[in-house]
Amino acid sequence: MCDIVVLYDGYSILRSKEEMSANCSCTLIMGKSNNIIIDTMTSWDADKIVSALKLQNLTVEDVSYVVSTHGHSDHIGNNNLFLKAKHIVGFSVSFKDTYYIHPFEEGKEYSIDENVKIIPTPGHTLTDVTVLVTSVNKETFAITGDLFEKIEDIENPTLWLEAGSEDPTQQRINRSKVAQLADWIVPGHGPQFKVTDEIRESLKSQRDENIAK
Ligand SMILES: [Zn+2]
Repeated sequence: MCDIVVLYDGYSILRSKEEMSANCSCTLIMGKSNNIIIDTMTSWDADKIVSALKLQNLTVEDVSYVVSTHGHSDHIGNNNLFLKAKHIVGFSVSFKDTYYIHPFEEGKEYSIDENVKIIPTPGHTLTDVTVLVTSVNKETFAITGDLFEKIEDIENPTLWLEAGSEDPTQQRINRSKVAQLADWIVPGHGPQFKVTDEIRESLKSQRDENIAK
């Protein structure tokens, strides 16, 4: 079982037609054998990450995995702080110049340990992943990156569609799938939220309405 700490809540605010402010949720998982950091914000946030780790009595050297849910700049900005870690960026798994082939594109999950697994959830990009973690309370947390933008995007799907979706149909399928698996969702650009039956139903019908078209 793992302690899950959201170091920073993501956000996205449209400033004008040409500009938005955005940064991703940055999450730390502290397990028995691995410390894992998920989505490392923009390149200007290194100090913020180092000081948030310090509050947990950790340094960058203590992190054994970095996961970027996808390759956009606000989710990979500080991966190079973590040089002792294996890096998983979307479907790509590497350490230094060694790449480990894993068939995410066939739907295969990647297990870090018994409490942490990474599943392919394409949609926002075609190689997005979601991290599923079992917490100390035995609840399942899904750290989804931009599969979910924020809780408001369940009632208002234009929020995730306008944030960019390379495959909306797959994204609807994976949003519904992840909601079935998780008790809590940490979305890419908003605070974590509890997954209710109402949310599950809503996502299921959004998925099915799309498939029926
Ligand atoms: Zn993002």
